[in-house]
Amino acid sequence: MIKYEKNFLEMQEKFAIVARFSAIMDEHTCPLCKFLNDRVITLDNPDYRRFTPPLHYHMEGDNHTKCRCFWTYISKNEKPKVNWVHPSQELITKYYRKK
Ligand SMILES: [Zn+2]
Ligand SMILES: [Zn+2]
Repeated sequence: MIKYEKNFLEMQEKFAIVARFSAIMDEHTCPLCKFLNDRVITLDNPDYRRFTPPLHYHMEGDNHTKCRCFWTYISKNEKPKVNWVHPSQELITKYYRKK
């Protein structure tokens, strides 16, 4: 685990990248994924691991599919604006179902 984390940091330093959360936006996208769509995070933020998709599987009794989101990596040379906002506890409780 420690090694894993170290690799992320090395990767970030070596390639100077940040990650952008990319959701497939349609009527099956849940409010949590919608909220995170297009937000940019640095890889040393603990939320990077926590919100690495899939964030949930198909949820019984609603019309949201399993999470289809992914990270897009952007070079810091492109001067991306880091605009990550930690989702509200309500969104997490309702839609976050990591195995
Ligand atoms: Zn979702
Ligand atoms: Zn998702």
